[in-house]
Amino acid sequence: MTSDRHLPVAIVGGGFSGTMVAAHLARKGIESVLIDGAGRAGHGVAYSTREPAHVLNVRAEVMSAWAHDLDHFVRVAEADGGHRRDFVQRQQFGRYLRGILKDTIDSGCLRLVERQAVEAEPGEDGWTLQLDNGEELRASGLVLAIGNQPPEPLPFGRDSSRVIHNPWSGDAQAAVEDLAASNEDVLLVGTGLTMVDAVLSLDAAGHRGRIVALSRRGLIPRGHTDSARHRSPPRTYRTVMSERSGAGSASAARKSAGARPSTGSGRTATASGRAFRCTSRRDLPVTPGPGGTFIVIASPRKSLSDCKG
Ligand SMILES: Cc1cc2nc3c(=O)[nH]c(=O)nc-3n(C[C@H](O)[C@H](O)[C@H](O)COP(=O)(O)OP(=O)(O)OC[C@H]3O[C@@H](n4cnc5c(N)ncnc54)[C@H](O)[C@@H]3O)c2cc1C
Repeated sequence: MTSDRHLPVAIVGGGFSGTMVAAHLARKGIESVLIDGAGRAGHGVAYSTREPAHVLNVRAEVMSAWAHDLDHFVRVAEADGGHRRDFVQRQQFGRYLRGILKDTIDSGCLRLVERQAVEAEPGEDGWTLQLDNGEELRASGLVLAIGNQPPEPLPFGRDSSRVIHNPWSGDAQAAVEDLAASNEDVLLVGTGLTMVDAVLSLDAAGHRGRIVALSRRGLIPRGHTDSARHRSPPRTYRTVMSERSGAGSASAARKSAGARPSTGSGRTATASGRAFRCTSRRDLPVTPGPGGTFIVIASPRKSLSDCKG
């Protein structure tokens, strides 16, 4: 793409990808407009969580936003009292990314438009975008950085307020708070990293009811093999599961990190115990009843596939 210097490049989506495209363009003196309609510019879905228990799934030392400066994020984490080997809070990475966004805006090369893009038409000299407030925006080039779209609702419980289809929505946050107040049982559909986040959110909110996670393959995420060396470990889902199942202390749970916690091959996978049970079913014949809230977790998380077994 050759940039027409009279018109900016339009970037739709202000998560990590959109923010960094804008930052790279600004470094080359190319103007852009970053369009994000969810109020998440500079955070995206992953780093807009406010829950301290939600941590990065890799260490700080591999999270630099800049390929030419691999310790860029480490310096930020260390300035906050952290360590390069830490799994820091995702909201801290969000602040880091938001800082890059602010620097890019301050450079004069980027304008932020907090609207939803609803249409884009190519023309002879670029693109015309329609925003959800009816405004039109012309651009020399178009970058789609819209991330994963919200999950399709599953075929059950579409009309029930007790079934939460998008684990990253405001409804999911409200459900966590309601469940913490009522201590009702929860069914989590799926056993990947989003399940881990949901368990941590429920636990941090004070929920002490039963949590059942439903899996098609009976696999749950594996720990990092050397997490026993981790400095000041956060409250991990392994800790939470261990405590809830009465399987041992937090330190025993941490020592077991790295062990493969799943049975594989579609059998019932552990985390046996009183409060947390992970069940493997290929079909999902789930009907929401009056006695429990279902948080349906169906978001594609292919980039986070360390739950493969
Ligand atoms: C819960 C979670 C945790 C994760 N943890 C990690 C981690 O620890 N380490 C790691 O490396 N990766 C992690 N990831 C992967 C992470 O998503 C990617 O690394 C990266 O942040 C994806 O950024 P993105 O900009 O492509 O998408 P997103 O962050 O999804 O951003 C897309 C943005 O586009 C906006 N948008 C969409 N459509 C429109 C439209 N029509 N108009 C305007 N705006 C629009 C959305 O509002 C959103 O803000 C995680 C992902 C999730 C979901």
